[in-house]
Amino acid sequence: MSWILSAPKAELHVHLEGTLEPEMLLGLAARNHVSLPYTTTDEVRAAFRFDTLPDFLEVYWAGLRVLRTSQDFYDLTYAYLVRARQDNVLHAEPCISPQGHTQRGIAFDAVMEGVLSALADGCRALGMTGGVILGLQRHRSEEDAFAVLEHSKPYRDKILGLGLGGPERDHPPTMFARVFAAARDLGWRTVAHAGEEGPASYVAEAVDVLGVDRVDHGVRCEEDPALVRRLAERQIPLTVCPLSNVTLKVFPRMESHNLRRLLHAGLRVTMNSDDPPYFGGYVNGNYTAAAAALGLTPDELFAIARNGFLAAFIHDELRASYLQALAAARQAALNSRVGSGGTPGVSVDAGRVERDGGPQAGVGGCRRRISLSSAGAEPTERAARSGFVQPTNLLSSFS
Ligand SMILES: [Zn+2]
Repeated sequence: MSWILSAPKAELHVHLEGTLEPEMLLGLAARNHVSLPYTTTDEVRAAFRFDTLPDFLEVYWAGLRVLRTSQDFYDLTYAYLVRARQDNVLHAEPCISPQGHTQRGIAFDAVMEGVLSALADGCRALGMTGGVILGLQRHRSEEDAFAVLEHSKPYRDKILGLGLGGPERDHPPTMFARVFAAARDLGWRTVAHAGEEGPASYVAEAVDVLGVDRVDHGVRCEEDPALVRRLAERQIPLTVCPLSNVTLKVFPRMESHNLRRLLHAGLRVTMNSDDPPYFGGYVNGNYTAAAAALGLTPDELFAIARNGFLAAFIHDELRASYLQALAAARQAALNSRVGSGGTPGVSVDAGRVERDGGPQAGVGGCRRRISLSSAGAEPTERAARSGFVQPTNLLSSFS
């Protein structure tokens, strides 16, 4: 088990707003003079109690009020990258939902400047690759979604793709068919939340009507065996988030999660954290909890991590490098039988992160050779200035 924790990984389903740790929530509230109903991190954590997606979203959206400036979005994004890198996430495709901020009066450009700058700086400093996905909120109108697309045009070459999140029930993917077609015309990849709170038919709609490249969650596809077979045949990835699913009662307990069954049905299942502080774990926390409850074997863990790189929106050459590094980690663990999973000396050309055949790089600019065994240990000047990222936070899991 322990080898997978230090093995190279990709994270494809995480909401930047959902990585807002209680400490940063309070810190930003103080910095921006935003009054909150809590004054200690314990009180914040106590507020992170919910059983359903709508209840969760109410707490989640209330916390967003502390995010006001470009620097706030920079700090949030940079802190996520640092934390993900501690789990040896080497490629990340986090999502930001601009509508949750523009409707509060925050400028679209402030959100994007902060997120994109942090992705560029963080990837460079930490030896990672990655890009941002713009997440639409499905309870808002199609007109509003088109406005997001219009605002994003100056950044189109720096954005990986379009996503769809928010409360699923009564908001079927079909409502956004024309928006997703327009996103594809921009050259973007597309993903959508479906089959978490909503039924299997929403997964089918996401695939058939929106034409998504990946389904976020998608676990309720199991209710339709024909759909499961189709997803397996087409190898459409599911970005599964086990701790999120159990917290929001998609499954009553981790032991009943269907991740293992879906994997054995031939689906391209990946492991992700969704909104880590709210659901109790980052990527490695999800691996640990799912492996313990479901008895996942080293081969199954390897398959899931491999699927992450197979499903990532990266150039084939970079994909091959990451897959090679992952295979080396597995082999090292097999050789040592102590599960250290180290990959000394394996290097990846992180400059080639453009999409297959696409004209836009779509990624936050990591154009240099990196070593998978050595990331930078100092935050950028802008990150250090914020006070939220300390040098000692980096690489603590690599000792
Ligand atoms: Zn999500």
